[in-house]
Parts: sequence; structure tokens; C-alpha cells
Amino acid sequence: MPAAKRQETTAHVHSPAVEDYLEQIHNLIEGKGYARVVDIAKNLGISQASVTNMIQRLHAEGYLIYERYRGVVMTEAGRRIGQEIARRHEVLTRLLSGFGLDPETVHEDVEGMEHHISRQTLDVLTLLMEELEANPDLLKKLKQRLGKIAKP
Ligand code: MN
Repeated sequence: MPAAKRQETTAHVHSPAVEDYLEQIHNLIEGKGYARVVDIAKNLGISQASVTNMIQRLHAEGYLIYERYRGVVMTEAGRRIGQEIARRHEVLTRLLSGFGLDPETVHEDVEGMEHHISRQTLDVLTLLMEELEANPDLLKKLKQRLGKIAKP
């Protein structure tokens, strides 16, 4: 696939670190109405000084607006990316958790996959997730085959 077409369907133009910040900030604003440096640092497991550096960079790149005493506001471009990564995170987590995988494995795998999955593949996995959630019998059968629950 030509590079241009590939970029359209993935977010490889942003580094995983940038995507994680925008995802976190998006989630904080959705949940609490605001995103403070201290909360971003805590959620990402990064020092407040590093968070401040990155936020200044994201400000300069047009993904958010940062005023020292007023916190962080996302621009439309930043929100779009944050929302997309959060959506990938949710779909992948629901799909894998549904199979009864342990939360640590799910978290680790999702944190990697969410930065590399194309829109088309995510659409397929979203469909699968929805169908499995609507068909507990099928999910049960698959979990039995995986050895996640006892066979009848
Ligand atoms: Mn994530």
C-alpha cells in the first residue's frame, strides 16, 4: 500500500508517547472536566517535570493550549487523536477481557496495540466484540476452547 494511503488508515504520524498523552488528557477531561499536570503524571507514571515538557511541546504543535495556572485545553486536532486512541483502548480491552484474560496481560497488550492498529482492523474487532457480547453462548464456547472455563 502506498505510504499516503497507509497513513490515512493509521495514526503512525504521531509517536506512541504523544498518543498516550492525548488519550490521558482526553480521558481526564471527559471524566473530571479538566486535566491537571499532577493527574496526567500520576496516570502515565511519569514525573511532573516531564509532563510539563511534553505539554509545552503539544501546545507548540497545536494539539492543546496550556496556560500555567489554568491547566490544559485540547484543540480540535488534539481531541480527535485522544478520542481515537481512547476508542481503540476501549474496544481492544473489552474484546480481550471478554475472553477472561488476566487484566495485566490485557493492559500490557492493549497499550501496545492501540498505537499500531489500522482503522479497518479496528472496525473488524469492534464488530467481533459487539457480536460476542451479544452471543454469550458463542463466547462461552470459545472460552472453553481456550481453557479459560471448564468444558461441559
Ligand atoms: Mn491507552
